[in-house]
Amino acid sequence: MAIETPDQQPCVHCGDCARACPDALNPEALFFALARDDFPSARAARLDACSECHRCVEVCPSHIPLLDWFRWGKSGLHERARAEDARKRFEARNARLAREREARAARRREVPSPAALPAQTISHAEVLAAISRGRARKAAVVESQARDGRPGACGPERAPIADAPWRGDQGRPHK
Ligand code: SF4
Ligand code: SF4
Repeated sequence: MAIETPDQQPCVHCGDCARACPDALNPEALFFALARDDFPSARAARLDACSECHRCVEVCPSHIPLLDWFRWGKSGLHERARAEDARKRFEARNARLAREREARAARRREVPSPAALPAQTISHAEVLAAISRGRARKAAVVESQARDGRPGACGPERAPIADAPWRGDQGRPHK
């Protein structure tokens, strides 16, 4: 990057700019750091603290456009900061996705495969016995409901649906 003016001369290292700076900066050091694209050095020299008062430009015997340099350098610093933030967010997202992938893989490893499960040892006779027990339980329930006349019963004590007193005309077929 080169910012020049027609009447500009090389820096004579007079130190006038530093003496004129109300923010106690060293404009000469800032200028040389930015001229070689050394943004870390410019940041270390507190480029951001420049209040852009223009005094260093006014006293510089070499007519170096110091303030133009500093404005350009500040925008470069901010762009770099934004790029750095974006890079950190990108890396954090990648790290989070990697952790989630690893957690899913770990959960999959914890589920035993069917081959690893113990072999079934229930015999045919045990299956038949279980079916018989189930049928006996169901028959007992049906018999109990029929005896009590509760809804769901299917014995003779239960009133026919059409004669049920609570139904009224409900449920009768339309004529
Ligand atoms: S423009 Fe910035 S560097 Fe120059 S004198 Fe003002 S505050 Fe200091
Ligand atoms: S005033 Fe100009 S010539 Fe003098 S040190 Fe600062 S930049 Fe260099």
